[in-house]
Amino acid sequence: MDFVEQLKSSVDIVSVIGEYVRLRRSGAQRYMGLCPFHNEKSPSFTVHVVHQFYKCFSCGVHGDVIKFVMEKDGLSFYEALKSLAERYGIAMPKRSQYADEDSKLRGALLAMHEAAQENFAANLKSQAGEAARAYIAKRGLAPEAVEHFGLGYSDRTGRALIRLFEQRGFAVAQMEQSGLVGKRQDGSLYGRFRNRLMFPIHNESGKIIGFGGRALAAEDEPKYLNSPETDIYKKSYVLYNLHRAKETVRKEDRVILVEGYMDAIGVTAAGFGNVVASCGTALTETQVKAIKRHTHRVAVNFDPDTAGANAAERSIDLLLAEGMQVRIAELEDGLDPDEYCNKHGSEVYATRIENAKGYFYWVADRARAKHDMRTGEGKVEVLKLLVPRVQKISDPLERMTVANDLAGYMGVDKSLVLDYFRKAVNQRQDRKPAAPKNPLRPDERMLLIAVLTEPEWREEVLSRMKEMEALGTLESRRIFGAAFALAEAGGRLSFDEVNARLAEADQNLLAQALLNEDCEITREEVTAALESMRRSEAQYRRSQLKARISESERSGKIEEAMRLTLELQGLERTAREARR
Ligand SMILES: [Zn+2]
Repeated sequence: MDFVEQLKSSVDIVSVIGEYVRLRRSGAQRYMGLCPFHNEKSPSFTVHVVHQFYKCFSCGVHGDVIKFVMEKDGLSFYEALKSLAERYGIAMPKRSQYADEDSKLRGALLAMHEAAQENFAANLKSQAGEAARAYIAKRGLAPEAVEHFGLGYSDRTGRALIRLFEQRGFAVAQMEQSGLVGKRQDGSLYGRFRNRLMFPIHNESGKIIGFGGRALAAEDEPKYLNSPETDIYKKSYVLYNLHRAKETVRKEDRVILVEGYMDAIGVTAAGFGNVVASCGTALTETQVKAIKRHTHRVAVNFDPDTAGANAAERSIDLLLAEGMQVRIAELEDGLDPDEYCNKHGSEVYATRIENAKGYFYWVADRARAKHDMRTGEGKVEVLKLLVPRVQKISDPLERMTVANDLAGYMGVDKSLVLDYFRKAVNQRQDRKPAAPKNPLRPDERMLLIAVLTEPEWREEVLSRMKEMEALGTLESRRIFGAAFALAEAGGRLSFDEVNARLAEADQNLLAQALLNEDCEITREEVTAALESMRRSEAQYRRSQLKARISESERSGKIEEAMRLTLELQGLERTAREARR
């Protein structure tokens, strides 16, 4: 068994994919969830437990656990192997044939970020870090939180960091590509982050891929400086603290979304494990999907002064469009979440989150505060604010429910509001993806499954199928062909082996055959399938014979036609007897 096979057999694809997708068991051997590769409302992403592969019946993505990790984490083949091997404590072969240039560069960038992290953390403890420590103290952060979040300090030049990179053998080109080092026109290098409090930014699997740096001197601009995009850091993919928070988010089925690094750290330190930060910019679709893989419920807790600002507004729109349930947590006295936790304690903050209003009620309240709801114009103004937002709810039933509730809440005539929304619903024309149809006959599907899953029937099924003249008429002929070839070569007859020998269209066919229904089959079912195959084989032979008879008659070969007719009569007799 080579390393890839060994890895795949020791890794459970359901638990690996389960870290990214909320999977629900949908059969003895299948799990289903919302596809992480396209936007969907009802699940068509399926994972097969026994054969260890996934397939989406809407967008068509499919593959094994390695491919999944490659696509989801943006890794090369080698990196995906490594990441899985690490997660499951499997030793990688020493000299590996899988390393390529891309993964070498990314490996170097990750190592440089580790080194930078060491450097920044050490700086924070040194004399040079005094101003940074003072800022941390002013913000009321405990040493444990500083440690937990790996806070650091970038000194005034970055020379020590560059020296460290040189000592560890990183090339200048790699340093530039890390985004941590800049190059002046005269060719000399400088640290990109200078005199800043440093926040390491991790990807979802917990590797440092970038930094955020907060200016400590009032004259330094910008206040927050982030790593530029690099081969390992794609801003639109990353949410601050998600790698730590995701487990709690899933457990509590809710995420608290805050704006800044300090908010995330302060709220976590107050005892809330389910906090992630957008870091000041509006969320991207990828980020929302990253959240959605873990929960559908989000409590938005942006700074009060920016709650109405564009970024927050756009983030909320995107969350709604992705079908998230959005609540808005409001904090009094104009405090940031971390300041609030410091001042009022975690219990009070917990009630703020607990009592967070549904987004629409929050908008309604804000509108009501501005407009006089006793007047007709006031009501119209408020509706104008609410209606376009409610329309963004993608689920029609939920949209109607919210509209109905809001009309009641605002004291507006319900029938009027509902009528408006009913029209909007019709315009949207929501459609559901059709259930995948299986182009295989039930008997060929059954036999295919028997060959792939049940060694005891494999030989019998294969030899019977091989004799069939009608095999060429079956959709699965190339799949069986691959199985014959493997069996002849004495190879392992696993899903992977067969799958690897198929073209895309047949791979799809095979995946559908295995995923459409459960594959646990009984002796009786296999016998029945073989019998049904036998009948269609006999029928096929009879129709072939008939064709040859008329061909012979046409070309005047009467004796040949007579002989074939006798043969046909024999076959028909056998068929009649079998039916009795
Ligand atoms: Zn999909």
